[in-house]
Amino acid sequence: MNALAATNRNFRHAARILGLDSKLERSLLIPFREIKVECTIPKDDGSLVTYVGFRVQHDNARGPMKGGIRYHPEVDLDEVNALAQLMTWKTAVADIPYGGAKGGIGCSPRDLSKSELERLTRVFTQKIHDLIGIHADVPAPDMGTNAQTMAWILDEYSKFHGHSPAVVTGKPIDLGGSLGREAATGRGVVFATEALLAEHGKSIKNMTFVIQGFGNVGSWAAKLIHERGGKVIAVSDITGAIRNPNGINIPELLQHKESTGSLKEFQGGDSMNPDELLILECDVLIPCALGGVLNRDNAADVKAKFIIEAANHPTDPEADEILSKKGVVILPDIYANAGGVTVSYFEWVQNIQGFMWDEDKVNSELQKYMTRAFRNIKNMCQVHDCNLRMGAFTLGVNRVARATILRGWEA
Ligand code: NAD
Repeated sequence: MNALAATNRNFRHAARILGLDSKLERSLLIPFREIKVECTIPKDDGSLVTYVGFRVQHDNARGPMKGGIRYHPEVDLDEVNALAQLMTWKTAVADIPYGGAKGGIGCSPRDLSKSELERLTRVFTQKIHDLIGIHADVPAPDMGTNAQTMAWILDEYSKFHGHSPAVVTGKPIDLGGSLGREAATGRGVVFATEALLAEHGKSIKNMTFVIQGFGNVGSWAAKLIHERGGKVIAVSDITGAIRNPNGINIPELLQHKESTGSLKEFQGGDSMNPDELLILECDVLIPCALGGVLNRDNAADVKAKFIIEAANHPTDPEADEILSKKGVVILPDIYANAGGVTVSYFEWVQNIQGFMWDEDKVNSELQKYMTRAFRNIKNMCQVHDCNLRMGAFTLGVNRVARATILRGWEA
């Protein structure tokens, strides 16, 4: 099932649990605006090439729309739509005053030079600058984009509208980015894990963890789990997978990755088949890479007791059902990885106030938001007698529905 079908299915299930009016349900599902633009740029060799870019603005009932911009060959309107909708529910679950949006350009950023990426980003910004803005739609980085991409968008946007640091988040610190933003998603994953384990009378210390993906989210989550005494017994990335049943020394692995660019040949563990990583015996499995990695082909073999969805949409609906029947507790993506957008909100607040916070304040506020959201989700689970995924969806959808009705919805 593709990401949009799965997201729509979860939304409809939540709407049924909440007993939403069918017209309101339909209205909440349909995006506010879909933008498609053609971006033609000269390549470094002088030839012209055209890329298609999208921005889907899903909902703004609770505030300006918010979401990343992805550069990836497989970006298409369906995927951007699904991710924009997920952002609407995610910002509502985190209780930050935003709606949801997402953008992307169908391109392979690894095959473009830095100057080509800059030209592409500037042309994309020229085409959408009238439709984004500090109080309208605030982009951020996603797969294939980074702080530098946000710096180019900020610069191009500011040519039309004057200096506007709050128009994007995830910026370089020197341009108004927030301390703690880079680690925020991984740190939020760890706060979410702590909240879940505490509910089960457990803590990170001495529990075993398997982490798929060792990029921004996975490496920060691994580092913070290691610091708290958790045993990370297996890690993978696109270059391979390693395991050590006694616990991998994560600071040493980070150094190895930094110096070689790969997990291969790390002396502190044995290499393993990456396909087997997801079905290893462990307490907690944290997918931090791609969507759809837990599916009907492998779900029955998963041995973890807890799954923390740090990646977006890592569990197919079929796998969700199989895992739930097995008693595996799944912390859903729209809550588990909300730490990034929460600190993006702090960055926007700091830019608007013109007053920057120290890192301790960012981290302690993040912990407050993540812990409060977990309590709110658990409350919905009790009220509606549902699992954590539906607890999160009903929490998010209900907040957006309430805001929509308060603004003057007529059935
Ligand atoms: P990233 O590009 O920094 O890292 C991705 C990691 O996944 C890399 O280590 C890569 O090698 C690995 N990977 C790719 N294919 C793999 C495969 N087949 N098997 C194992 N590993 C593989 O990306 P990120 O920012 O860490 O994002 C990871 C996930 O978290 C994505 O699903 C993203 O949408 C989600 N997410 C990220 C943020 C954020 O703030 N970065 C926020 C919310 C959600």
